[in-house]
Amino acid sequence: MPDALSDPNGLRASIDELRRGRRFLVISHARPDGDALGSQLALGGLLAMQGKEVDLLVDGGSPPDLRFLPGSARVGGKPAEARPPYDAVVVLDSAGLDRIEGMRAAIPAGARVLNIDHHASNPRFGAVNWVEPESGSVGEMIYALAKEAGWALDRDAATCLYVAVVTDTGRFMFPSTRPSTHLLAADLLRLGVEPGPINREIWGSKSFAELKLHGEAIRAVKTAEGGKIAWTKLTPEMFELAGIVPTESQEFVSMVKSIKGVEVAMLLRPSENGHTKLSVRTESTCDAAALCAHFGGGGHKRAAGATLKMSLDEAEKAAVEAARASLK
Ligand code: 5GP
Ligand code: MN
Repeated sequence: MPDALSDPNGLRASIDELRRGRRFLVISHARPDGDALGSQLALGGLLAMQGKEVDLLVDGGSPPDLRFLPGSARVGGKPAEARPPYDAVVVLDSAGLDRIEGMRAAIPAGARVLNIDHHASNPRFGAVNWVEPESGSVGEMIYALAKEAGWALDRDAATCLYVAVVTDTGRFMFPSTRPSTHLLAADLLRLGVEPGPINREIWGSKSFAELKLHGEAIRAVKTAEGGKIAWTKLTPEMFELAGIVPTESQEFVSMVKSIKGVEVAMLLRPSENGHTKLSVRTESTCDAAALCAHFGGGGHKRAAGATLKMSLDEAEKAAVEAARASLK
């Protein structure tokens, strides 16, 4: 049995919007993860199958580690590739308009925005908003939308949705995993999705350099509060040693989180302009989104992030302090 939607009106309004329009731009947050790009490609495919014209844009194009997704090669990489007018601009998996970063320039002035997201803190920035904080991924929402609209999923769209779900639920291990998540996965497998090769692409395709960097990150783990807080810091020296700069944070912070007794796991790494990107994963004793909101970031209760306008070392002190305070 499907789990109840918290915003069924949002779902119905989204379907109305998509049925009514003919030309759409579909975008998601900057540096898209599996959920953002998978949902974008799946919705793009669904709309194309309904005879709609769809443009898909990602700043800089599809990230290299997600280019195995069917259709990812057709995604445009620059805002200038938008071809307005659009009946609506669909924004996926974006906790706020600021998360779209450079691709905001692709949204024509006065465009109707359809905001489909699963972050509780989403400020409902669209003309139409569908927000489901209980949903483990936007991929699950696109699946629900296809079912409700009576739009059939082909194998490519199903593959993109499977990647969205398997990445954003941490391989069905996060508490956001619900009965409906597994039912959906079963349905996608029946549509021809092959979990083996997909999981190999996502988790079994590390370079030796990346593995070395994981080793460095593990060696650098520190703890506080009797082991309830644990964190690591990726430094430019480590990147030099390993020979790469990682594009994603999920696995690094998950490693820190896997230590028994850890309630707040954090990863700090350099971002642009000498600033520092923080990734946080928590147990129920600490609200990760609230911790990150302290630094102007956000996310979910158990997984959140922020960019701190500080050096790596300053950010480390500030983040550990904030983690201590959030545990009390
Ligand atoms: P990650 O740590 O994997 O980068 O992000 C974890 C979660 O936090 C994701 O759901 C992501 O949307 C959210 N998140 C990460 N960075 C930021 C940020 O700078 N601002 C906001 N509002 N959310 C973020
Ligand atoms: Mn997501």
